[in-house]
Amino acid sequence: MPYLHGPPGLQAHPVPQNARTTHSSGQSFEQLRQGSLQTGSLFEDVDFPANNTSLFYSERSQVPFEWKRPGFWQHSEWLDVVIDDRLPTFRGRLVFLHSADHTEFWSALLEKAYAKLNGSYEALKGGSTLEAMEDFTGGVAETFLTREAPQDFYTILGKALKRGSLLGCSMDIRNAAESEARTPFGLIKGHAYTITGLDQVDFRGQKIELIRVRNPWGQVEWNGPWSDSSPEWQSVGLADQKRLCHAALDDGEFWMAFQDFRAHFDKVEVCNLSPDALQEDALHRWEVAVHQGSWVRGSTAGGCRNFLDTFWTNPQIKLSLTEKDEGQEECTLLVALMQKDRRKLKRFGADMLTIGYAIYQSPGNDEHLDKDFFRYHASLARSKTFINLREVSDRFRLPPGEYILVPSTFEPHQEADFCLRIFSEKKAISRDLDGTVDINLPEPSQPKPPEQETEEEQQFRALFQRIAGEDMEVTAEELEYVLNAVLQKRKDLKFKKLSLISCRNIISLMDTSGNGKLEFSEFLVFWDRLKQWINLFIQFDVDKSGTMSSYELRTALRAAGFQLSSRLLQLIILRYADEGLQLDLDDFLNCLVRLENASRVFQALRMKNKDFIHLNINEFINLTMNI
Ligand code: CA
Ligand code: CA
Ligand code: CA
Repeated sequence: MPYLHGPPGLQAHPVPQNARTTHSSGQSFEQLRQGSLQTGSLFEDVDFPANNTSLFYSERSQVPFEWKRPGFWQHSEWLDVVIDDRLPTFRGRLVFLHSADHTEFWSALLEKAYAKLNGSYEALKGGSTLEAMEDFTGGVAETFLTREAPQDFYTILGKALKRGSLLGCSMDIRNAAESEARTPFGLIKGHAYTITGLDQVDFRGQKIELIRVRNPWGQVEWNGPWSDSSPEWQSVGLADQKRLCHAALDDGEFWMAFQDFRAHFDKVEVCNLSPDALQEDALHRWEVAVHQGSWVRGSTAGGCRNFLDTFWTNPQIKLSLTEKDEGQEECTLLVALMQKDRRKLKRFGADMLTIGYAIYQSPGNDEHLDKDFFRYHASLARSKTFINLREVSDRFRLPPGEYILVPSTFEPHQEADFCLRIFSEKKAISRDLDGTVDINLPEPSQPKPPEQETEEEQQFRALFQRIAGEDMEVTAEELEYVLNAVLQKRKDLKFKKLSLISCRNIISLMDTSGNGKLEFSEFLVFWDRLKQWINLFIQFDVDKSGTMSSYELRTALRAAGFQLSSRLLQLIILRYADEGLQLDLDDFLNCLVRLENASRVFQALRMKNKDFIHLNINEFINLTMNI
């Protein structure tokens, strides 16, 4: 088993038992290994073959790479991404990442697993160490610039260490020549250090905050105040010295005053681990809530608040913070928004989208907030930037209360799946406001007996007689003829043609007598309904384009009594809208009739006060014929 030269915590965190199998054979690592052992052959990975398709997706190889198996063969049992042990080499040397020690291959094998996860080695270019850290641990990364760090930075780092987080720090370089240059204080520029401890000592009647840093080389240490053999230690009590395990070993690990640390190091990176990655019970854990979702063009890809017309259509997550942090008045929150699988899509030309999020005070109900809410309310907090990174994460302190979190891309109509993770010090309750369906239809109006007919209705009866013909019933064919004739004359609406099928659906909705035709009283109710539907269309076609955009549709549907889940809205757009995300009147009528039919049937069939119906296959198919 290869070891990682990282903080001790890293080796103690094996992948959870339920790691998802990613190999195309559907076999787990154990099964694949068993197969190799039984046949006595070395594993060849068909999913990530030893040829150029695994190295590049756009670049051509300049030299012929030869894929070699290292003589020291180990499998990384650490990740359940199965790779074979063929590594790209040129003239006997590894082409990509390699360890200083040429017989050590774990880093190269690990990188290969990571490359496979992302499709190819080229896809890794431009990725950050933090991304890799997150992928290996499932954690959430945060970057602090020491110069701009919050007042309670020392406390934040202390809590991070107690939670078993992985902490790294570094000094910036201004040019390539500075890389790995040694400062007079023995620190290496551009080099990744790890933070391994934090403590305080009594020093000449003062409390001094100290931090322990480790150089992963295992040598070359800080030589300023509080370094291994610095005179400060002589003024510290033996108990403190013992507790801090102060021994002047040249092992790469050293203490410094926190003040000096902030002056010398530029950046601190923290990888916050989720509770399932931590096995030691003694560690303080974050409470974590995870929401998966997607931005879909035409329904949930609303863009940022600059785009007021569409912003409200983004997914919305309600967050209830009830418990304050230990001994504090507020609640600490880490919100991390990640776009999924973009690195893999790079092969197909997809770049990272610009993403971010905003947090609003909840008005206290569980409804998806509409455009007016965002017009009149400013956000309480936001991600620091909208940025084209795989993940945006920020830390907040908010008073207990209810909040709405809106994750979005910067521009509207950009599609991606996302994962939103909320880390909180105390348990927080969060729920997706887009998963619920709530339908509130008007009571179906009852046909009136003939003696109460107004004069207008009597005129209408004459019209009906012309449409219905001798049998005094309107069939689907007759309805198709009359609706197309009437609606095509309207200049304020775009209308193509209502199909026979649509007319059958309308009849199915309005036919209370069950004979598949509309008699006068049924037709009267229908005509009234049609007027309402057309009014709805005109009212919510806000830009007067004569068509209904997917966003206009969402408000129109809500006004008609349909509060739908984002998934359902996505389906409706796919089914009824054209490429420009617009619905003509006929699409709109089709959509409303179908929704109303389905809802009425459901209401008729459901058990008392129950939110479900029970159907066998025969009943189900019968139903789909009618809807
Ligand atoms: Ca040391
Ligand atoms: Ca009828
Ligand atoms: Ca419109």
